[in-house]
Amino acid sequence: MTDYLFDAPEVKSIPVTGATAEYPVGRIFCVGRNYAAHAAEMGAEVDRDAPWYFTKSPSAATPSGAIVPYPPGTANFHYEMELVVAIGAPVFRADRAAAKAAIFGYGCGLDMTRRDLQQVGKDNRRPWDLGKDVENSAVFAALTRATDFGDPGPQRIHLEVNGDLRQDATLDDLIWKVDEVVSHLSNYYHLRPGDLIMTGTPAGVGAVVPGDVITGGIDGLAPIALTLTDPE
Ligand code: MN
Repeated sequence: MTDYLFDAPEVKSIPVTGATAEYPVGRIFCVGRNYAAHAAEMGAEVDRDAPWYFTKSPSAATPSGAIVPYPPGTANFHYEMELVVAIGAPVFRADRAAAKAAIFGYGCGLDMTRRDLQQVGKDNRRPWDLGKDVENSAVFAALTRATDFGDPGPQRIHLEVNGDLRQDATLDDLIWKVDEVVSHLSNYYHLRPGDLIMTGTPAGVGAVVPGDVITGGIDGLAPIALTLTDPE
């Protein structure tokens, strides 16, 4: 056993519906612009050639139901409701069928975003890290096994702020389907159990302020919630 100078980083984990063991978080990949109506609201074209990605640090993982402070360095903190894919088997250079077979399960997620800092990155052709890799910004609800959920399709995906509906779409609106995303991403990474993919957000993103309560859901999955308090 290695003797560390200080406590090693905590392993984050996500509950699994119907199981006592939790799903330990490895890497967090996020798909950009995967709903046409959201790409349009961001003033962007849909990328039809291939999906593309950004990442969040595993330490950004936060459980549904958390109460977290409004983050530093932003005046435009946005919610993004997303379907999360959890990898359950090693997958590398896989076709769509093999990619689908490697999916452990699905969950509701929130990709919380410092939109103003993301825009600075876009405007200056810089990375998005300050906008996207935000502490407590990868919120995960309990996962449901793929065998219990079935396939993403007509299920509704929605988000409310203080009870007011802000995002409302279906998983059929995903441009790149989950098996296509896993297959494509497996050409660049040796995906393995613990790896999570946030699959993009529908239209209707917007800002939240301290005191707001965000709730969301996807038919057939455990719902998600996040409460924001005053900045530290
Ligand atoms: Mn997103």
